[in-house]
Amino acid sequence: MDTTGTCKYCGQTRAVRVPKDSPEEVIDETATAECNCPGAKTARKVENFMDKVVEIFEDIPEVSKLAQEAIGLINNNKIQKITIMPIDGTKVTISSNLKGQLKITRERKIKKEVTE
Ligand SMILES: [Zn+2]
Repeated sequence: MDTTGTCKYCGQTRAVRVPKDSPEEVIDETATAECNCPGAKTARKVENFMDKVVEIFEDIPEVSKLAQEAIGLINNNKIQKITIMPIDGTKVTISSNLKGQLKITRERKIKKEVTE
C-alpha cells in the first residue's frame, strides 16, 4: 500500500510503499531507509559496517558484541580508538579517522624464531 512515513532522524515525511497492514514502525523504518538526510545516511553506513564486524568475529560472538558496543561509542565521539586482545592471540583495533570513517582490523602476528 502507498502511505506516508516519517524519517526517525530528520522527521521528514515521505511517501512509501509497504505491504498491506504494515505497522507504523515498519512504515517509518521504510521512510528512514529511503531518506537521504545525514542522520539516515550515517545510520545506513554504520549498519553495513556492523554486518562486516559480525563477519570478522564469526568465531567469537562475545567479542563481536563488545566491538559493536565500542563502535557505538566511537560514533558518539566518546572514544577515538580501542584495542581488544581476544584470548586466541589476535589483536583487534577499531578506530575512526578525521572524516568519521570507521575501520576495524583483526590481525594475528606470526613470529618465527630459531636458535641453534
Ligand atoms: Zn531523514
